[in-house]
Amino acid sequence: MTLSAAELAAAFTARFGTEPAGVWSAPGRVNLIGEHTDYNDGFVLPFAIDRSTLVAARPRTDSTVRVASTFSEGDVVTADLNGLAAGDVEGWAAYPVGVLWALGRSGHAVPGMDLLVDSSVPVGAGLSSSAALECAVAAAANDLASAGLSRSQLASIGRLAENEMVGAPTGIMDQTASLLGEVGHAVFLDCRSLETMLVPLDLDGAGLTLLVMDTRVSHSHSTGGYASRRASCEEGARQMGVPALRDLSVSDLGNAAGILDEETFRRVRHVVTENARVEDAVAVLTTKGPGALGPLLNQSHASMRDDFEISCPELDLAVDTAVSAGAVGARMTGGGFGGAAIALVPTEDAGTVSEAVTAAFADAGFRSPVIFSVRPDAGARRVA
Ligand code: ADP
Ligand code: MG
Repeated sequence: MTLSAAELAAAFTARFGTEPAGVWSAPGRVNLIGEHTDYNDGFVLPFAIDRSTLVAARPRTDSTVRVASTFSEGDVVTADLNGLAAGDVEGWAAYPVGVLWALGRSGHAVPGMDLLVDSSVPVGAGLSSSAALECAVAAAANDLASAGLSRSQLASIGRLAENEMVGAPTGIMDQTASLLGEVGHAVFLDCRSLETMLVPLDLDGAGLTLLVMDTRVSHSHSTGGYASRRASCEEGARQMGVPALRDLSVSDLGNAAGILDEETFRRVRHVVTENARVEDAVAVLTTKGPGALGPLLNQSHASMRDDFEISCPELDLAVDTAVSAGAVGARMTGGGFGGAAIALVPTEDAGTVSEAVTAAFADAGFRSPVIFSVRPDAGARRVA
């Protein structure tokens, strides 16, 4: 659903019998470039998008949490923050309850709360609906408990909730984008130092549209594939004698080719060149603007397809078709083996590109993709 803040507040009152203290919003994100670099201490360049999760919240005088979502009709999940331990809450409620638990575990006393959630971030389309949910709740709790945490600290709280209460071993990119994003900007994140920097990404000004092409496929080897890529990266770093692949540069690749086996070398080459592409993308955006990003996006895709081997026929078809139909550049985004690709297209060609990709999927006998545009928008904030 996509309720306005006022509609969500009214739904909260109908559900819980009292008005909410306020409504908070946090966006999903798209990763522009920098894939599988996060766990190698490297660089990523996501941006917050104009699709977000809203949470209406009211603090309670006890330690009870009651959460409901427009996604799960009628269901109110109840938990007690007192004595709550990692893994105690299951299902979707683990995300919001986990955030309140993570705040408490990090030494920030928060009261129990009633929460009602609504979202325009599609679940599982690679736009991080999970981080949007965590960050909306984190922003609400931070304000309601006057905890005074910085946006970066709130990002860590969201990650702690996802790692420990949900049990998903994710990095901090998604929460960082959702909390620190700004209109017309991407968020550069150094995954080692956790330093961030806003980078101009004025798509409207450049006459460009960023299309998300959700293939709606999720190939079954994705979990094993992710684990084996991580293992290859660790092995590559170990054999090269560096703490992480972040510590290698493109000029080390000749040396690496003589040390590593052929497959490990290609895995390493993806990460090392992808880190360089993120740095190049920051430079290009700062000096020339988004219209000059195309080659970097295309190279990133080729590297994931050929060296890291995490693409699939649907992602390759979406990318190749978008580029043939006029995209400036395109790449798969996210963990791979399915999910979404992005294409940067001149705004006047957005319709043609979408139609071409949809037609190519039909011809190939693939499930019809879901294609929509996103633009860089503001990070988490109070909206009512
Ligand atoms: P994504 O790529 O969208 O982040 P995840 O599997 O990481 O996919 O997270 C999706 C999960 O987050 C959903 O299955 C659900 O448990 C939870 N979630 C996200 N948004 C909502 C919402 N609005 N209401 C309830 N649960 C949500
Ligand atoms: Mg997620």
